[in-house]
Amino acid sequence: MIDPDPIYCDQCGTSLTQKIPAGEDRIRGVCTACDLVHYRNPRVVVGTLIEHDEKILLCKRAIEPAYGAWTPPAGFLELGESSVEGAVRETWEEAKANVEIIQPFVSIDLPRIGQIHVKYLARMKEPHFEPGPESLEVEWFHWNEIPWDHLAFPVTHWALRLRQADREQNQDRFHRGTLKWKDKGSPLDFNSYDLSDLQSYPLKMDGSQRSRAAIDD
Ligand SMILES: [Zn+2]
Repeated sequence: MIDPDPIYCDQCGTSLTQKIPAGEDRIRGVCTACDLVHYRNPRVVVGTLIEHDEKILLCKRAIEPAYGAWTPPAGFLELGESSVEGAVRETWEEAKANVEIIQPFVSIDLPRIGQIHVKYLARMKEPHFEPGPESLEVEWFHWNEIPWDHLAFPVTHWALRLRQADREQNQDRFHRGTLKWKDKGSPLDFNSYDLSDLQSYPLKMDGSQRSRAAIDD
């Protein structure tokens, strides 16, 4: 979940005190020796939805959390990377798939755990894939056979639901929303969340762009 508050100063190693710094409106860790304020901000998770024919590529996680559950390739954005670069890198690391990005697909805020998840539609540059060190298996799943009861995270579930709905309606859209905790149920169950402020924007794609979404064998 959210990382614990830091205890010691990043700059000088002295213990921090929790207080509202002058001119601010919330409690932060402040160094008792050098006065450095320790800001904590959400982290960005980037990933790809890779489609081929009527299928999508999913990875079975070899690490906690959600060991053994399925998810499209995704992971934390690194400093110095663009979100597109991070999504391509994570796809290589987890699925050993060399992809190019087609279009942004979804941005979901998770304020409860301080994360923003950005997913892109992508296509493989070459047909090869295999499990990376963080994956047990990598497989194509037909959209009729998504392992809904064995998906890794609620955000995964919501993102795939949105894409499935777009496919059923023969639409390409960009979506944004906030995954809001309902204050009850398991935090790992997608039913414990609402995506109530969802906004969906049609993307105008001409025929040549649309054809790039399919992989030419
Ligand atoms: Zn300090």
